[in-house]
Amino acid sequence: MKPAPFAYEKPGTMAELFGLLAEHGADAAILAGGQSLMATMNMRLSAPEILVDINGLKELSGISVSEDKLSIGALTRHCDVASSEDVAARVPLIHLAMPYVAHAAIRNRGTFGGSVALADPASEIPACMVCLDGEIEITGAMGVRCVPATTYFKGLYETDLQEGEIVTAVHVPVLGDGERHAFDEITRRHGDYAMAGLAASASVSGTTLLNVRLAYFGVAGTPVLAIKAGAALEGTINDSCISAAQNALDSDLDPFDDIGCSAATKLHLAKVLLDRVVRRLVAVQ
Ligand SMILES: Cc1cc2nc3c(=O)[nH]c(=O)nc-3n(C[C@H](O)[C@H](O)[C@H](O)COP(=O)(O)OP(=O)(O)OC[C@H]3O[C@@H](n4cnc5c(N)ncnc54)[C@H](O)[C@@H]3O)c2cc1C
Repeated sequence: MKPAPFAYEKPGTMAELFGLLAEHGADAAILAGGQSLMATMNMRLSAPEILVDINGLKELSGISVSEDKLSIGALTRHCDVASSEDVAARVPLIHLAMPYVAHAAIRNRGTFGGSVALADPASEIPACMVCLDGEIEITGAMGVRCVPATTYFKGLYETDLQEGEIVTAVHVPVLGDGERHAFDEITRRHGDYAMAGLAASASVSGTTLLNVRLAYFGVAGTPVLAIKAGAALEGTINDSCISAAQNALDSDLDPFDDIGCSAATKLHLAKVLLDRVVRRLVAVQ
């Protein structure tokens, strides 16, 4: 299918961008990598009157590291995040997750900010942001605000972004002393959206875990922090505490049936992932 007719603008400055968004309001859609937007337009699931292409705004691309924080510009391509040595060394969770994001061709154009703005419930990146307790930088004509990832994702494809605003960057804490990350997901084919996935971080000393954060995706409208399961894992890891944490997922998670699998299967997969990921966290690395 072909998209409905649309107009196209490519602003060269942020001022021009916000002028266009103010002029066109809800009729405008931001075009970043186009990997999700163009597909929905071609299927006539969305029909914006005007596309505002942000690819001319070079200030939105790039990865930078300060003392305790790593920042990724919204327009940074998935492939550049995947190959970044800074990301691999400072925020291994994101490095571990990137190969699971779609396929190489899509990662060449798709952007980190596009995934954060789209907020697909089965996407890896929102769950990493929640697990890391990162922040989403949002900019509008009135200025910049930073929103914790834990409150930014509001529901199915629903975020804290308001009309006239865009995601300009994300900021995540760099790996602390003794902190480790682990990631896994279950899909029918590599590159598909996950049936269930888990991003995890913890402070690790031998086989003891502290500050455990388990962020599930593909099991609800937003990433879900499994608080009770995380609490059950604080201390020395053994089979019985893994089993207690798996049981705690019964109250932490309330999965939905989707086109790919039933709620009961998702809950089962979440428990399988917990076991795998926790054993990776305490494995000698
Ligand atoms: C076959 C296929 C498989 C895929 N599998 C996965 C997967 O397994 N995991 C995964 O995470 N993703 C997957 N994707 C999606 C891919 O990662 C996209 O790149 C991503 O969802 C959106 O990024 P984009 O830059 O292409 O955004 P676009 O398609 O350009 O935009 C997506 C939406 O976000 C808005 N938007 C984009 N950037 C901004 C911004 N900076 N501020 C405000 N709004 C913005 C747009 O207006 C639009 O509504 C898949 C895509 C395809 C086609």
